[in-house]
Amino acid sequence: MSNSIDPQANPLPSLAAHHMDPHSYPDGVAFLDGQYLPMSQAKISVLDWGFLHSDATYDTVHVWNGRFFRLDLHLDRFFGGLKKLRMTIPLDREGVAEILHNCVALSGHRAAYVEMLCTRGTSPTFSRDPRDAVNRFMAFAVPFGSVANAEQLQRGLHVAISDKVRIPPASVDPAIKNYHWLDLVRGLYDAYDRGAETALVLDFNGNVAEGPGFNVFCVDDGRLSTPAVGVLPGITRRTVFDLCAEAGLAVKAADVSVAALRRSDEVFITSTAGGIMPVTVIDGAPVADGNVGAITRRLMAVYWQKHEDPAWSSPVRYS
Ligand code: PLP
Repeated sequence: MSNSIDPQANPLPSLAAHHMDPHSYPDGVAFLDGQYLPMSQAKISVLDWGFLHSDATYDTVHVWNGRFFRLDLHLDRFFGGLKKLRMTIPLDREGVAEILHNCVALSGHRAAYVEMLCTRGTSPTFSRDPRDAVNRFMAFAVPFGSVANAEQLQRGLHVAISDKVRIPPASVDPAIKNYHWLDLVRGLYDAYDRGAETALVLDFNGNVAEGPGFNVFCVDDGRLSTPAVGVLPGITRRTVFDLCAEAGLAVKAADVSVAALRRSDEVFITSTAGGIMPVTVIDGAPVADGNVGAITRRLMAVYWQKHEDPAWSSPVRYS
């Protein structure tokens, strides 16, 4: 894929002129059924199996300072999910990437949350056979959002460990990024009921798994661990492994028990929606001395520095 578009040869598709309702929709641009639309106009049928059966896969990449971060890894994961779900779209990687560039360019955002998704769609004959369905690809770019707000990034998140169990890999392969979030949402309500800000749920063996939209790491004696099974292989999680390799820090994917998490020196969570975010309270008790740890701070800083590095990021084609 070339790094720039000649605007004369390849003019950006025009945004269909529609009424925007700024009160109900984020400011952004979606691609749906071959058209670029304001978010308020991007709507699908209630009969779509993505909605009725959660039969869908998606990926989210972010744009920071006008650059995509690790777009290739997100495209790999998205196309891997499509293949496993036996979905087909009339686009290759470059075609999807071009649509993502266009959504961001048309939105004008320099910091964006950019989602690509595919639903099973609907069967033209309304049959119950998924093989009859016409799969539907969509994408959108909205303002960048974070799991943790500015205050939480400073002082660390307050997390509760719910007893809800993340849907096991034997049921749904977690490598297929999916919208099966009822376990995570129930975990969130457990957390709110206990005065916490977000939740971690368990894996099928009772170890810590992940949270609503994030993976988790703990640091013990300078060594990092993150749950190995029953979790989405997050791109930010992978990025922490890459940053640790560069920094000479030991990191491994292994079971993390609830007790081990509680007695860790440092805890942080990772997500495309916010990057590396500290956790300083678990179930009302401070993690170590309750301050954001030194390794967490160091990784947060280098994570954002990498957003300017051409080896890790690529410029959005705004024109
Ligand atoms: N786990 C779940 C369930 C998620 O939904 C997400 C992101 O949305 C993550 C982990 C973090 O993945 P990534 O770092 O690729 O954003």
